Amino acid sequence: MTDPTTSCLFCRIMRHEIPSRRVYEDEHVYAFEDIDPKAPTHVLVIPKRHFADLKEAEAGDAELIGRCHLVAAKIARERKIENGYRTVLNVGPGAGQSVFHLHVHLLGGRHLSWPPG
Ligand code: 5GP
Ligand code: ZN
Repeated sequence: MTDPTTSCLFCRIMRHEIPSRRVYEDEHVYAFEDIDPKAPTHVLVIPKRHFADLKEAEAGDAELIGRCHLVAAKIARERKIENGYRTVLNVGPGAGQSVFHLHVHLLGGRHLSWPPG
C-alpha cells in the first residue's frame, strides 16, 4: 500500500517540503497561516501524525485532537481575539473538507455569524 503521507499536502507542509507561515510547533502539533484566509486570524492546526479526518480518529487519538484545540486557544489568547473566535473541523467533502489530513481551523478577529453556512 502506498504511504498516504508521501503526497499529503499538510504532511508535506509539516516536513517543510512546501513553504508555510508557521505560527506554532511542538512535538505533536504544527500550526500555520491559511493560504486563503477567511478572517483576520485564520490559522490551521494539524496533528503531526497523519489521519484523514475525524471519522478515522479513534479513542487513542483523543489527546492529540485535544492538543490541537488547546493550541488554537493559545494562539487566540496571544492574538487577543478571545472576545469571540471559532474552531472548525470540517469532516467530509459535504462539509467543505478539501484537504484530507485532519485540521482545526482557528477563525477570529471579526464577527462570526451563527449558524455557519
Ligand atoms: P478544508 O476545506 O479541508 O477544511 O480546509 C483546507 C484549508 O487549507 C483551506 O482553508 C485552504 O485555504 C487551506 N490550504 C489549501 N492549500 C494550502 C496550502 O498550500 N497552504 C496553506 N497554508 N493553506 C492551504
Ligand atoms: Zn497528512
